[in-house]
Amino acid sequence: MSDETPICSAKGCRDAAVWVLAWNNPKLHTPERRKTWLACDEHREHLSQFLGVRGFLKDVVLLSEWEQPEGSA
Ligand SMILES: [Zn+2]
Repeated sequence: MSDETPICSAKGCRDAAVWVLAWNNPKLHTPERRKTWLACDEHREHLSQFLGVRGFLKDVVLLSEWEQPEGSA
């Protein structure tokens, strides 16, 4: 493991991320744009719900399988 191990996006959490949550806020982003949050196993559901209730959540993918779409960093 390197120093660049991705860390969970949940507030105060320093665990290694396992999941990528891909989301889009239609008020701010074009439809093909993807913002990403990272989540450890523990916070995947919490963060998914946060985005899900707002209608922002598009995808939940294992970090090891995630490929950033072109031009949507
Ligand atoms: Zn976490």
